[in-house]
Amino acid sequence: MTIRLYDTAVRKKRVFQPQDPARVTMYVCGPTVYNYAHIGNARPPIVFDVLRRLLMRVYGDDAVIYARNITDIEDKIIKASLESGQPIAEITKKFAAIYNADTSALNVLPPSIEPWATDHVGEMIEIIEKLVRKSYAYVGKEGVWFSVNSMPDYGKLSGRKLEDNEAGARVAVDDDKRDPADFALWKFAKEGEPEDAIWDSPWGRGRPGWHIECSAMAAKHLGKTIDIHGGGIDLQFPHHENEIAQSECAHGEIMANYWMHNGFLDMGGEKMSKSLGNVVLVHELLEQWHGEVLRFAMLSGHYRAPLDWTEGLLKQAKTTLDRIYGALRRVWEAEGGRIDDRGIFDALCDDLNTPEALASLSRIAGEANMAADKGDADAMATARANLLDAGELLGLLTLTPKAWEQGGDDDGNDRIDALVQARIDARAAKDWAEADRIRDELAAKGIEIMDGAGGSTWRRV
Ligand code: AMP
Ligand code: ZN
Repeated sequence: MTIRLYDTAVRKKRVFQPQDPARVTMYVCGPTVYNYAHIGNARPPIVFDVLRRLLMRVYGDDAVIYARNITDIEDKIIKASLESGQPIAEITKKFAAIYNADTSALNVLPPSIEPWATDHVGEMIEIIEKLVRKSYAYVGKEGVWFSVNSMPDYGKLSGRKLEDNEAGARVAVDDDKRDPADFALWKFAKEGEPEDAIWDSPWGRGRPGWHIECSAMAAKHLGKTIDIHGGGIDLQFPHHENEIAQSECAHGEIMANYWMHNGFLDMGGEKMSKSLGNVVLVHELLEQWHGEVLRFAMLSGHYRAPLDWTEGLLKQAKTTLDRIYGALRRVWEAEGGRIDDRGIFDALCDDLNTPEALASLSRIAGEANMAADKGDADAMATARANLLDAGELLGLLTLTPKAWEQGGDDDGNDRIDALVQARIDARAAKDWAEADRIRDELAAKGIEIMDGAGGSTWRRV
């Protein structure tokens, strides 16, 4: 049971060894909550949800402590508040709830801990005080800055040398900073900024910088050294580099033993991003596709590789899932089987090889069909057990085959079945008015009844 993970810090796969197998810690940078998440934003929560499920399988459900923060104070949120006139908390509560509803529809398990940045301003100030005391930080006119030159190995995560940064930043030399690469730990409040974006600090009223938020929340909830730190590849520099600088200089300990980054989700050959405008929102996609289809599509590529998001990818995911659910339906009654397939588990242990894991899932579905063709009860039960076990690891096959095929949940479907039967009974009793009334009631729910020689069936329209 060896898990190998690609560690961005050393640019190769390493055998994963937690500090304490009874308490495996993982921190993933969460959303800045001021608008709707696009499907690119959903790549990190889905990818790291698969990792978390794998870790839970190996170390036990309770042993894995997974923190994903909510960034609820940041320049973009302040801008949204100023533009809309809404209080910050109203905006952040609304969009955090939408984010959690979106990710939950994608079968992402809720994190063990969901720290909100504004609940940790005290902890952030404590870290900044330490950094100032140890001369890693200095107070300027606009805020408190981290001095990158004070840390000999600054840049070790991304492999960037300070000279590389300065070349690009020279045009925008900011006279408040000693070095253009220095970054803000605390930003002093400016004229016209809303009161709910301002906190007191030993250096003056203002707000924390984005990077210090994660340093404070990770240390508070998971400890000074965590096992795995994750996020999108765009966070490697500067965000994670700066988290390392703050945490390691303040605590004198390594911040994370493994750094993992997902590649970009692209659309039209470019990174999906709000600034380019090539985005599709998760909640829009969910109106058209089941969350499992989106999740399957997302996992069809390896997490480190770019993935091109297309209509074809979604159609393919839907077709494959239909086939797998179809196989599951054929073995659904064969309960009590024994799990004997490790294909998916082994694929995930190799740096989360989800394309191979999904290929294994299709293979097991094929075995289910073969067993059903032969009427081999034992093999059917085994295939069912293997399919459901694989689904649990991947966060798929969470519906019954019936619910998948008819859409909606089983309870709702049972009620529809009952109404369809009531209509059949009404017709048998020649109560045409009642039969029509039931048909209209179902039509209002978007259910179409199809009367045929073999009886009445229904579908959602
Ligand atoms: P943002 O809203 O840009 O701060 O992004 C939130 C999270 O989504 C970060 O972890 C980003 O790395 C990630 N992310 C944003 N755009 C993409 C994309 N096109 N593909 C993959 N991850 C992304
Ligand atoms: Zn972060």
